[in-house]
Amino acid sequence: MADLGPRARSPGAIPVPAGLTVLSGPSGVGKSTVVQAIRRDCPQVWLSVSVTTRQPRPGERHGREYYFVGEREFEEMAESGHLLEWARFAGNYYGTPREPVAERMEAGTPSLLEVDVVGARQVRLAVPDSLLVFLAPPSWEELVRRLTRRETEPAEVIEQRLEAARAELSAESEFDVTLVNTSVGDVCAQLVALMTAQPAD
Ligand code: 5GP
Repeated sequence: MADLGPRARSPGAIPVPAGLTVLSGPSGVGKSTVVQAIRRDCPQVWLSVSVTTRQPRPGERHGREYYFVGEREFEEMAESGHLLEWARFAGNYYGTPREPVAERMEAGTPSLLEVDVVGARQVRLAVPDSLLVFLAPPSWEELVRRLTRRETEPAEVIEQRLEAARAELSAESEFDVTLVNTSVGDVCAQLVALMTAQPAD
């Protein structure tokens, strides 16, 4: 297991490249679209694959978007310390397997986690020098539009996600950087630049 303790952070307001970057923000803001684009276009970035108890959506594959597991299996992983962080979101569990993250950090590979705000707070505690990036919607109206047009979810799940989104939006100030999701291409370019830029001497 790699040491997940703190590394030196350069002083100043401009974030330095972190071994571990966390992409978070409200549900529906487009995090998974950004992650998909990075998976396709940026082989230099390693993407953590989370474990979840939610059902796969059409097109999702076990081991690519998520590891889909039962509640019992998830709870065992959490209790035995196999998860770096975990949270319950809209009725399902989500968590980040610890070991693969530790291995990538040890190897010095730029690594990206996509988690909800609760998970981002836990990563900050476990890996204090991780870079926390908040993906914000261009406006609240746009976020509602994106959440309500997702036809794969029943109405009560959409309502739960809207409720969560209100709380998640108010957490923005806890993050190191905010990127506004005006275009997937722009956000990916900015994110990868943050993750791979060389620190100033
Ligand atoms: P979805 O069901 O739309 O794929 O994800 C729901 C929420 O769970 C999103 O906000 C997503 O970022 C978050 N999420 C995905 N994986 C993880 C994880 O491993 N840990 C935590 N805490 N949240 C996650």
